[in-house]
Amino acid sequence: MAQIIDGKAFAEGLRARGDGCRWLRSEDRTQAGTCGGAGGEDPASQVYVRNKGKQTLACGMASFEHKLPADTSEEELLAVVERLNTDPAVDGILVQLPLPSHMNEQKVIATINPDKDVDGFHVVNVGRLATGLPGFVPCTPLGCVMLLKDRLGSLSGLDAVVIGRSNIVGKPMAQLLLAESCTVTVAHSRTRDLPEVVRRADIVVAAVGRPEMVKGDWLKPGATVIDVGINRVPGSEEGKTRLVGDVDFASASEVAGAITPVPGGVGPMTIAVLLRNTIVAAHRNAGLSFDEGSL
Ligand code: NAD
Repeated sequence: MAQIIDGKAFAEGLRARGDGCRWLRSEDRTQAGTCGGAGGEDPASQVYVRNKGKQTLACGMASFEHKLPADTSEEELLAVVERLNTDPAVDGILVQLPLPSHMNEQKVIATINPDKDVDGFHVVNVGRLATGLPGFVPCTPLGCVMLLKDRLGSLSGLDAVVIGRSNIVGKPMAQLLLAESCTVTVAHSRTRDLPEVVRRADIVVAAVGRPEMVKGDWLKPGATVIDVGINRVPGSEEGKTRLVGDVDFASASEVAGAITPVPGGVGPMTIAVLLRNTIVAAHRNAGLSFDEGSL
């Protein structure tokens, strides 16, 4: 039976380590600006933005939420981002995606100051990650690598299969695993014989958005499985729903060496890493050196 990788506990530890930076706050430097674009009217986005704001405040940082109606023009949103770019009280900016269809998401992301881009979506940070320069890395994949290193120590030489090639999860995940000296395969919707590809992997990261797609008999015995998927499916009681991942937990946990549950695995890491990235941004923006690896 696989060990359960407890992302909730790891995220709490990460937040506690962030708390060790309290001295920074005495200079009123560590601030997070949450800019809840027109995502402000999307119910899932509302929950995310509320949780991000709550956890930012609980961490002792300031949080500035800009909740804009869905009919906000792109120009108005860009003006908010530009104000935050130059506001010395703000060290981290995130725009809650998805944006409504009349906005160009890439243009909005490109407007964020890369040195305040704590979500790591700006093309400058994508390039920094690809070339090994210090920048900001998207929170969910960085959280996954933290869980993997905590469980396995060095990842060097391991075979890793990432299922999914999105800009938010799959691609940065592959870059991070490559930087850890894994042999990385990126699988996607056009991959031939996915179960056979997955069977080679010491590390499997599933970021697909298909409930319980990865089965236990796809896995190499002892593999470490990171399930990024969050899918809402009908529950056993009428009218109720429940959350499942992209991995069939019941069969996978019979074969894997370790596995993240859904919920309670990767999910809690995302906001904890966002706070971590903001603390890093505050130090860098203030020209202060500190050991980023300690967070
Ligand atoms: P996405 O829809 O942008 O990308 C999905 C990827 O899966 C695509 O690259 C596609 O090629 C691939 N894919 C689709 N069908 C496939 C198939 N049959 N076989 C192989 N590959 C297939 O999704 P995303 O934004 O990367 O998110 C993926 C999942 O992770 C979703 O369930 C999402 O809710 C979840 N997610 C969780 C967190 C978190 O905090 N835990 C954060 C982001 C995303």
